[in-house]
Amino acid sequence: MKELSKIALAVEPSTTMAIDAMFKQMKAEGQNVIGFGAGEPDFPTPDYIKEAGIQAIRNNETKYTPAAGTIELRKAVCQRLKEDCGVDYEYTQIAVSNGAKPCVYVALRALVNPGDEVILPAPYWVSYIELIRMVGGVPVVVEATEAENFKITPEKLAAAITPKTKCMILNNPSNPTGMMYSRQELEAISKVCVEQDIYVISDEIYYGLVYDGGQFVSLAALGEDIKERTLLINGVSKSYAMTGWRIGYVAAPAKIAKVIANFLSHSTGSPCSISQKASALALSASQDSIEEMRKAFEERRNYMVERMNQIEGVSCIKPEGAFYVMMNIEKLIGKELHSTVIKDSDDFGNLFLKYGKVAVVPGTGFAAPNFVRWSYATSMENIKEGLDRLERFLAGET
Ligand code: PLP
Repeated sequence: MKELSKIALAVEPSTTMAIDAMFKQMKAEGQNVIGFGAGEPDFPTPDYIKEAGIQAIRNNETKYTPAAGTIELRKAVCQRLKEDCGVDYEYTQIAVSNGAKPCVYVALRALVNPGDEVILPAPYWVSYIELIRMVGGVPVVVEATEAENFKITPEKLAAAITPKTKCMILNNPSNPTGMMYSRQELEAISKVCVEQDIYVISDEIYYGLVYDGGQFVSLAALGEDIKERTLLINGVSKSYAMTGWRIGYVAAPAKIAKVIANFLSHSTGSPCSISQKASALALSASQDSIEEMRKAFEERRNYMVERMNQIEGVSCIKPEGAFYVMMNIEKLIGKELHSTVIKDSDDFGNLFLKYGKVAVVPGTGFAAPNFVRWSYATSMENIKEGLDRLERFLAGET
């Protein structure tokens, strides 16, 4: 038989899956395990949003829509971007798809020719590197250290740019680190991108989950020079607890939005009509229930960070957004725990699950081998118990 596509064969399975599979198996066996791997809010979608979906079905809004999304939803996106981020887009500059993930894919598709380089700051969200490869791009990983608050500096960015660089992916606030770029930091990055004429895919999916009164700044809000090079990604999954509804969007210069809409029309076709109706309401109605979820995340983050930094052998910096904490396990590398020498975060993750009965995500998949990611998109009760277990696990108790 003939060989499969080289590009498809090169796609790696998610590195987070091994632990997740083990976690699910242990749970199915009835073991008392707690998971901190969740990449989605534990809250249900607010009732009024669910009602809009139910109404859409009752009203027979169950047919194809324009491939780039309904005008109603695209206008609601524009209004929210204007109110929350201070950026002006026409609805024709918005393309809606089945979640933010396919939006990143289609944005890369619109920009990248085979062999083009794409700069990817690390630690990065696992899917980015595979998505870059899936379009034939060459990922150029630039490490941002914990001492740099996991944020890429303009100097490091400039040093990574070559004549083959087409774009960079910026995730702000970040999964997995939870860190957020200040206006000043973004301006410095934007200056490099404009001077070197590279595009930015700015994934701002966690922009609604920001803490300590921090001010989120959208890259596209910094001026026309950077806006015309920005493909802004966002969606309803995280801020509105709507991960299963599968609605995300790209906002881009009209020419690029058109290319993306063409691509979508021949690939995914229109996104789910019912989800679009619910998402339009989510974006245009009062944002009060969103604020309640945000406050709950902030409380959990505060507790997790404080406790973690009191535990001998591990530490973390305080994330400013999203719902993840990166726990530094550097001091444990080379040490023996439960009769095993820990080489990296994969070892730690496996042992912690086996003996501590807690699932966390090893940082190896994020290009951060000395860290593990905890999600606090879970109850305070679980968070307390998980950290109690961490203490006992590190003390060698079973
Ligand atoms: N971008 C980032 C940084 C994410 O963490 C995720 C989900 O984990 C997504 C995009 C995907 O969002 P969606 O569920 O809307 O496809």
